Amino acid sequence: MADLTLDEARKEVVALRNKLDKWADEYYSKDEPEVTDRVYDQNYNRLLELEQKFPQLVTPDSITQRVGGQLDSAFTKVTHEVPMLSMGDVFSKEELREFDERVQKQVGHAVDYNVELKIDGLSINLEYTAGKLTRASTRGNGVVGEDVTANARFIADIPQTLPEKLTTEVRGECYMGKEAFAKLNAQRDEEGASAFANPRNAAAGSLRQLDASVTKKRHLSTFIYTWVNPPADITSQHQAIAELDRLGFHTNQTGRKLAKLDEIFAFIDEYTQKRDDLPYGIDGIVLKVDDLQLQQALGNTVKIPRWEIAYKFPPEEQATVVHEIKWTV
Ligand code: NAD
Repeated sequence: MADLTLDEARKEVVALRNKLDKWADEYYSKDEPEVTDRVYDQNYNRLLELEQKFPQLVTPDSITQRVGGQLDSAFTKVTHEVPMLSMGDVFSKEELREFDERVQKQVGHAVDYNVELKIDGLSINLEYTAGKLTRASTRGNGVVGEDVTANARFIADIPQTLPEKLTTEVRGECYMGKEAFAKLNAQRDEEGASAFANPRNAAAGSLRQLDASVTKKRHLSTFIYTWVNPPADITSQHQAIAELDRLGFHTNQTGRKLAKLDEIFAFIDEYTQKRDDLPYGIDGIVLKVDDLQLQQALGNTVKIPRWEIAYKFPPEEQATVVHEIKWTV
């Protein structure tokens, strides 16, 4: 990298973008990844590194500057008034420490984090009008998603009616539990159909179905963790989750409000151990600045919020990859 010329860097950047765009299309649009997440992440991080070293090579259409998903034209489109962003990720505790230092520097003091499991599924957005579920959508390209309302009607843990006549919007992860995933693949095997590569792809392939009766048979679940427009008395992420739970949403109760990095590292170690025993897949841990006003103050880049970060579990067989998150785009 040190002695790379601009021309050499440009060639590598173009090659990386072509590869990543193709892989992203397989993953997001076709729900059939061609390479592992780790291979994707390594190439993505190399692109990030090159773009940081040679900022003149950054273009708005680069995958580092936009949310990765594409839209299936067969679905009705839904515009997200509040964009559904991606998330920065790190692969080491040292990088989490650097994230915390950046947050502290920006807000001027230490902060509490709500530390949550990173559920391996796909984002879902739910809109309620006067307490009734009126629309469900995928993240899509972050600004425009796909309308999956008919499908969401068949996901048992999504409330169709809230106990209060709220007009509101919430977000979370739609996932397929490990048992449902194993049963589905066994059944596909019997039918001679190809197996889904992992529960994330099975969930995406089952939610993004034009025929909602297919979704009905697939036993999808959700964990709701974001309240897009919470009432004024909800001032923190951990409070939002408690209230969403009270309203009947399926929430993940393992999250903890923590401030000290060694407690956060202990949480990571705990779930690195427990991960295989959970009934759903997780691919990391998410740190979210707990205070909603501070989240607003920290804001977002074009692609990721500055107030949250994912620590991704290292695969057992490979060395840890270290990279820096891009903050200034
Ligand atoms: P991401 O999946 O790494 O992280 C963002 C997403 O995490 C959110 O949109 C949300 O859906 C989810 N999430 C789960 N639990 C959450 C929680 N508790 N709080 C908040 N969000 C939570 O980012 P991305 O932009 O969706 O995808 C990029 C990643 O997808 C890559 O790092 C790679 O691992 C994978 N990918 C793989 C391929 C491939 O070919 N294998 C291709 C493209 C992307």
